[in-house]
Amino acid sequence: MSDWSSHCCYIGLGSNLDEPLEQVTRALQELAALENTELVRASSLYRSRPVGPGEQPDYINAVAQLATRLAPEPLLDALQSLEQAHQRERLERWGPRTLDLDILLYDNVRLNTQRLRVPHPYLPERNFVLLPLLEIAPELSLPDGTSIASLAQRCGNEGLIKLPPQR
Ligand code: ATP
Ligand code: CA
Ligand code: CA
Repeated sequence: MSDWSSHCCYIGLGSNLDEPLEQVTRALQELAALENTELVRASSLYRSRPVGPGEQPDYINAVAQLATRLAPEPLLDALQSLEQAHQRERLERWGPRTLDLDILLYDNVRLNTQRLRVPHPYLPERNFVLLPLLEIAPELSLPDGTSIASLAQRCGNEGLIKLPPQR
């Protein structure tokens, strides 16, 4: 579906509750099944140490590249519906969750509305996003030209483990 009307975007997936490996694996299948959307590529799964309040279980993270005809806001609607379908509860900011789906990049679009900030504002400092991105799109850059490779190199791989392919 890579015709003129489809957009290239990257989604960050994360889970640290209720069988995170299964949550993320299932979410990748659900992204592939979204209306007007194709899953182009998915990274390996990664295990990461949590950022956020108190003691929390480790996260499972991945990044997916989509080709989609959905505009950014409808795409966010679709992602939030998937989070809801995974029984996500919003208890505290950065608290544990069954599924988190963030829009990392959408073409070279920049958005800064109340609901949607693209590129994702914390992308440049999160190794659990940058290293999976680098794995599937080594030549990728931010809209301002900063390469993902340079950001990934700067933030290193502390606390991050790339998992072998799941059976
Ligand atoms: P963080 O933004 O640090 O990753 P979070 O993912 O835990 O935090 P959420 O509670 O999942 O934050 O989302 C809070 C709000 O962020 C959402 O309701 C959504 O409107 C908004 N938001 C802004 N930019 C984005 C984006 N690029 N992708 C997803 N949600 C976004
Ligand atoms: Ca997030
Ligand atoms: Ca989120």
